[in-house]
Amino acid sequence: MFDKVLIANRGEIALRILRACKELGVATVAVHSTADADAMHVKLADESVCIGPPPARESYLNIPSLLAACEITGADAVHPGYGFLSENARFAEILASHGFAFIGPAPEHIRLMGDKIEAKRTAKRLGIPVVPGSEGAVSSDAEGLKLARAIGFPVLVKAAGGGGGRGMKVAPSENELSAALATARAEAKAAFGNDSVYIEKFLSHPRHIEIQVLGDGQGNAVHLGERDCSLQRRHQKLFEESPSPALNAEVRAKIGATVAHAIAEMKYLGAGTVEFLYEDGEFYFIEMNTRIQVEHPVTEMITGIDLVIEQIRLASGSPLALKQSDIAFSGHAIECRINAENPVTFVPSPGKISYFHAPGGLGVRVDSAVYQGYAIPPYYDSLVGKLIVHGKTRNECMARLKRALDEYVVDGVETTLPLFRALVRNPDIIDGRYDIHWLERFLADGGLKG
Ligand code: ADP
Repeated sequence: MFDKVLIANRGEIALRILRACKELGVATVAVHSTADADAMHVKLADESVCIGPPPARESYLNIPSLLAACEITGADAVHPGYGFLSENARFAEILASHGFAFIGPAPEHIRLMGDKIEAKRTAKRLGIPVVPGSEGAVSSDAEGLKLARAIGFPVLVKAAGGGGGRGMKVAPSENELSAALATARAEAKAAFGNDSVYIEKFLSHPRHIEIQVLGDGQGNAVHLGERDCSLQRRHQKLFEESPSPALNAEVRAKIGATVAHAIAEMKYLGAGTVEFLYEDGEFYFIEMNTRIQVEHPVTEMITGIDLVIEQIRLASGSPLALKQSDIAFSGHAIECRINAENPVTFVPSPGKISYFHAPGGLGVRVDSAVYQGYAIPPYYDSLVGKLIVHGKTRNECMARLKRALDEYVVDGVETTLPLFRALVRNPDIIDGRYDIHWLERFLADGGLKG
């Protein structure tokens, strides 16, 4: 096991990693920008190092500063959290070349899955079902048109280097295809420095269902069931649950086994998530995330397994202690991502939290790094915290979520709490009848105003 872990992140995930380290008896180093000197992860860590000014590229993305912080503090490993440098293969390599462990998969696996065209090819080779589409990058409009005709319109143009829903454009028909290709290319070039794009069949009413996996890099892997993350706004997940209201135990075991087998075959190390769209009983791979995800707590709540502790153990070279038969699913869990944003316009609302009261009680978990008097800086994402609720059944979970949302008070900034209070009272959500377009439709129909 490591002696000291440097947490190369901020906010709730930095705190989440810190808690795992404390339970393992591992010392912690927090890093922070000058804007985050008062952050909770800094207060609770054993040591902290200021790594630069507020803009992320000068602090949380600043590799030389992070390396210096490792050297100064004598940390032996780095946990990147999610976002920032978590899927940067170069960062993992640089750490390794300086003798620091990266708590995540091997750089070649990060790189492989970071290129969505290569990821899809790999998935297909390993027996994972993929969305029908181009085999590789689409280099001309003529080639795109030929492919799109063969797949059938509407099609989706996606960026090979994509992430966060950027560089993605729908072409409803032939007339719109060349514009979609051009826009996706330009967006991809600007966002990822790579204008390579590919074409996929556009699925009209899928659910987003992802499988959590753990692998030890030695050919052992398990799956921890699925998360249904279909409630999205602009491809950003807002509400996640496990199990999915759309799957049964048999379907779960089958897709889980397919994915776990592929992960073992790849000799993948650490935690990862294989994402699918699920429509009319079929799974279609879209991408793999080679890091811990924001929504990981819903899996922890129904399996009782601490995914961050597992990540740290696996990165330190321990073989996977879990067998598939050790993983049991108990009850139902739902997560709401509460952001400091106007709940109608979604405009960020940074500023000082004048009053804060988190809900509690049986089955209620709040993963948050804010506190009363804390000022949310304007430089980073607007996540105030995640509310995760567990119940024996989905009905119990929904009732508990409703009362927990009603207890939650965050004053001084605007938050998306009112949106979640409306969602848990909506018949479609109560019945689990929603797909990836549901939330956009709800908002277009007036959402909270309607
Ligand atoms: P990113 O890496 O940018 O997040 P993903 O490939 O994970 O991109 O897709 C993000 C979201 O975009 C999915 O959750 C889904 O809502 C939508 N999406 C992706 N591919 C398709 C598709 N072929 N048809 C319909 N929607 C899609």
